[in-house]
Amino acid sequence: MKKLRKIGAVNMAKAYSFCPMCILKCGMELTIEKGKIVHNQGMKEHVLRNPCIKSKGLIDWVYSPKRLKYPLKRKYSGWEKLTWEDVLDEISRKLQEIKKSEGPGSLAVHLGPALFDTQVDRLARRFCDAFGTPNFSSSEDYCYYSRVIGSSLTFNFNGRNVAPSFRGSRCVLLWGWNPEESSSPTALQAIISLKNKGAYLIVIDPRRTKLAHKADFHLQPKPGTDVALALGMINYIVEKGLFDKEFVENWTIGFNQLKAHIKKYPLEEVSNITGIKPQAIQEIAKVYATNKPASIALGLGLEQSINGVQAVRAISILIGITGNFDVLGGNRCLDPGLKDMRILGRIDSSSGIGAHYPLFRIFTGQDTGIELPRAILDRQSHPPVRALILQASNSIITTPDSNKISRALDNLDLLVVMDLFMTETAKKAHYVLPAVSFPEADFIQDYWTYNFPLIMVAEKAIEPIGNSRSDGAFWLEMAKRLGLNAEFPWRDEREVIEYLLSPHGFTIDSMKERKGILFYQKRKEKQYLQEGFNTPTRKMEIYSQTLEKYGYDPLPTYRKQEEDDTILRNFPFTLISGPRVKSFTHSRHHRISSMRKRIPAPFVEIPKKTAEELSLCSGQKVKVETPMGFIIVEAKITEDILPGVVSIPSGWPEANVNLITDDTHRDPISGYPALRTIPCKITPA
Ligand code: SF4
Repeated sequence: MKKLRKIGAVNMAKAYSFCPMCILKCGMELTIEKGKIVHNQGMKEHVLRNPCIKSKGLIDWVYSPKRLKYPLKRKYSGWEKLTWEDVLDEISRKLQEIKKSEGPGSLAVHLGPALFDTQVDRLARRFCDAFGTPNFSSSEDYCYYSRVIGSSLTFNFNGRNVAPSFRGSRCVLLWGWNPEESSSPTALQAIISLKNKGAYLIVIDPRRTKLAHKADFHLQPKPGTDVALALGMINYIVEKGLFDKEFVENWTIGFNQLKAHIKKYPLEEVSNITGIKPQAIQEIAKVYATNKPASIALGLGLEQSINGVQAVRAISILIGITGNFDVLGGNRCLDPGLKDMRILGRIDSSSGIGAHYPLFRIFTGQDTGIELPRAILDRQSHPPVRALILQASNSIITTPDSNKISRALDNLDLLVVMDLFMTETAKKAHYVLPAVSFPEADFIQDYWTYNFPLIMVAEKAIEPIGNSRSDGAFWLEMAKRLGLNAEFPWRDEREVIEYLLSPHGFTIDSMKERKGILFYQKRKEKQYLQEGFNTPTRKMEIYSQTLEKYGYDPLPTYRKQEEDDTILRNFPFTLISGPRVKSFTHSRHHRISSMRKRIPAPFVEIPKKTAEELSLCSGQKVKVETPMGFIIVEAKITEDILPGVVSIPSGWPEANVNLITDDTHRDPISGYPALRTIPCKITPA
């Protein structure tokens, strides 16, 4: 264990790490006494320095008596404890057998969001390359990568997200993003501070969020219609000449085609599609286009529809033609700080589980796992997936159609789950491995996806709980046992972290002097003036020949989600599944009693008008039913949601909303399932 800085009493020390409670990983200052974390607070040197309510449960979570403490093997009679040496030997032997009989592509690896952009993420991808399987996927199969694909097609073919830069924004538009519940308080404070200084705040969300109450404009489009709304805004901006003519002339491809295309989206028509009045569309279009710099924050709410990528494309075009791309206070695409550790040319991606979604692989460098259950259940697939390694992923609760994924997991020859707790998914595994939380090991994290050119190295602050180990160590051990030493020359994860730091001229020791924090890039505005855009045409691509080549609409287009008439008759409401709530992250933290006290039971938000029609009251148990089945939850009556739309957060094991979601309606480009537009009905339970 590293020497910690003493702060007074012997055995009391400070350590710097990141909060393990959600994907954002706010900087965290930990107070360690006698080898235990006794206090945690935000770390002032970090950009994400203001922790949210969940961080109050950090100590309970790390020291939960329910933490896994030993490697376990499932037997008919129950779980058998194994040593790490034995479990790693057994897993590697089984992997070798499966590889020999079915080929390397019969292994799939899936990582949950906690490990995204850490050294574990890099090691797992590299392991897949070295083993020879194209089947690496992650929780970004359902969140974030539609944004990456849409903005990459428009601005940067290296796979970049067009993230907001709030500094100095005169207008902030939150589109399907609710930072109050899903982000760090730092982002929320930045937005409120801009608003207090006079910036316009526009919220587009079918739910009237707390920020929507404070906003200058709140538009509530019907779920899944955002692309039409963005096209309506573009229509108005182009017609009124509110676009940046110099930028459009010099730096875009396809503006004339766009002008012809948006004629199909007059405001009356857009109003019919979205349910938003034409005047409201005009107003926000004008405010956004004439108050520069203006930033747009795009959220998950946009992505999980059949039009997700096209919605991001339309919004990207809006950002570009109004002159808000690559300026402070507008939207920017950052480069990652941690290098890639892929082994190029090793795998044949055409046979991967995500082969139906080629642009997903091109822009994210990995396969979507949306077809993973099919690849397991269908023995005719090429090759069928027979072994699955899951790290930090409770897939049964967090992915659509839980029954299908559950059946698929039961059909594997080898399922290894590495996690902190015995999750619903871990219970299905042949082997369960106890993982560490961030303070228990060395970690490196890249924050580029949040538009911060920041890397943080968090050194181990406490000893691992029980016999737990880091997920990265698992990959190094597997590589050693499978004879992949040439591809994995590192003895331990510290050497991997040193390797990832080396391009920046830093070591773990030199990072210590700066509390692990490194801002790795000072990026100039409008970098395209020097380099052009990183697209085939070197311009911002309004008209995408790449989309055309792969058989998709080259210009953003709205498509209606087709449903059978009987379904629409029997299931008259629209279910938004999976909005975030402040106390929980996905399926995590429902075990922490302090968090459970805040939200003791799963609930469905029902608009007041709908509740009155159905004679329902708050607190009453109701049955929410879709064509997939039903769950029973508490009714929460609210005026803050669009009439006809109801909403259920995900992650509750006792009322798993994914039992009633499915993935049949998908975005044809990203494969993202339409989880925000599910027909449903509600009756008293
Ligand atoms: S937003 Fe909250 S839960 Fe997420 S990392 Fe920050 S403090 Fe932790």
